[in-house]
Amino acid sequence: ARIKHADFVKSSSRAKDCPKDDRPEFAIIGRSNVGKSSLINALVRQDIALTSKKPGKTQLINHFLINKSWYIVDLPGYGFAHASESARMDWSSFTKGYFQNRDTLVAVLLLVDASIPPQQIDLDCANWLGRNNIGMTFVFTKCDKTKGGKGSRPADNIKQFQELIKTCYREPPPWIMTSSVTGLGRDELLLHMSQLRNF
Ligand code: GDP
Repeated sequence: ARIKHADFVKSSSRAKDCPKDDRPEFAIIGRSNVGKSSLINALVRQDIALTSKKPGKTQLINHFLINKSWYIVDLPGYGFAHASESARMDWSSFTKGYFQNRDTLVAVLLLVDASIPPQQIDLDCANWLGRNNIGMTFVFTKCDKTKGGKGSRPADNIKQFQELIKTCYREPPPWIMTSSVTGLGRDELLLHMSQLRNF
């Protein structure tokens, strides 16, 4: 499951502009600031994803080709604190277009910040994916933070999130705890993705 090559391929502003290719891909999504760019960089061990972009800027789908055989796809973050209603609608029609048209999508990695209590927007996103039968894995980020902003611990936040999601799924999706700071979960996530690709 090692990553030997990671190449940025292209940024697409529309789902139909994505690379025409039959290689499998994993889409990575999550709330803005969840740690998506950090996780992608930690996975590929390169500063390939741009961190700290300004929220609300042009929304792009970024394709990274891994080991010349599969893709990691960076989708725009959702849930900007100050995003307007129209920006939020843009996010959903844009990303839904991607999800509904991408036959090579193996699974979505839904990033969830383990350093804060469960957020409704993440539950909404998980429910939408579930209703649309899109395979997903919860990737909890920032698990190194022993004390979250609101005094909550990652293990408790994750447990609460799992409880809330239980009502929506007969089989809860797989989940992995990660930290881009300590490298926790990196190998597990790479192994998980290689197993999913071979199904
Ligand atoms: P993005 O907006 O989802 O791409 O998030 P970024 O990767 O830019 O990270 C947002 C903030 O969270 C930055 O200040 C990062 O340094 C911090 N961050 C990201 N991942 C981790 C992590 O695993 N642990 C800790 N403690 N902080 C993280």
